[in-house]
Amino acid sequence: MNPRRVLALLAAAAMLVACARVPYTKRIQLNMIPEPLVNSIGRVSYAQMLSGANVRRGGDDAAVLQRVGRRISRVAKKPKYKWEFSLISDSTINAWCLPGGYIGFYTGILPVLKNEAGMAFVMGHEVGHATARHGAERISQQLTLIGGLVGLELLLSKETNWNPEERAIVLGALGVGAQFGIMLPFSRMHETEADVIGLMYMAEAGYPPAESIRVWDRMNEAAGPGLPSFLSTHPSHKKRQKNLREWMPRARKRYERNKLDRNTREVLWSGNATGRGRRL
Ligand SMILES: [Zn+2]
Repeated sequence: MNPRRVLALLAAAAMLVACARVPYTKRIQLNMIPEPLVNSIGRVSYAQMLSGANVRRGGDDAAVLQRVGRRISRVAKKPKYKWEFSLISDSTINAWCLPGGYIGFYTGILPVLKNEAGMAFVMGHEVGHATARHGAERISQQLTLIGGLVGLELLLSKETNWNPEERAIVLGALGVGAQFGIMLPFSRMHETEADVIGLMYMAEAGYPPAESIRVWDRMNEAAGPGLPSFLSTHPSHKKRQKNLREWMPRARKRYERNKLDRNTREVLWSGNATGRGRRL
């Protein structure tokens, strides 16, 4: 496509920019992708993720996942979302959420969660990514970056006598720099934010919030040493725990008002979880 056409399209997209506030952290975000569009992308991707996957529909574990999903999504207050929760037989230590409320948990993560409260924290984290619209925000950022690079290419070709190869080297270096300097810190911020939202949701739904800290201990033991945190898209587990501790007094207040009668810390899943993952 001709670069001028790309710029015109981006300008049109920018007109749709909407400001929104992230739940609990109240950060203002810019989102240029309309919610119904992103949510339908989520629905289609969900069908793709499940096709060929071994989804467990019956049994106690699937029932616990549905119960926790229902409780957490109720406090998330997004009536237009079509919440769906799938338990997938797979040893990967992971769980994910697609825009619009489509959530998958792998059985490999169950020993790390250990109990219903642990599952409620990770469920809250995943639901938090959806309600804070992190997916759409990431797409908006990528579009802005591409728009910036296309604009710069136009400027360089007009104002300098660099040949296309020289221009490509400069733009490539800027693109890589933006990945490390902007995109990675941004996605680390999304993880930190999803942890806060998850903590508040679990407490609001009546699960003891202190379990969130223990989940990160178990996750750390199971996943082993990962990438150094400056290179990784995820903050280190120590940083995540520190952040959770800062929010804990507010979470505890919500928990005291809503706590469940049942013992949600009873061990449901045990064993040594080993494997790669930690992409929550
Ligand atoms: Zn996450």
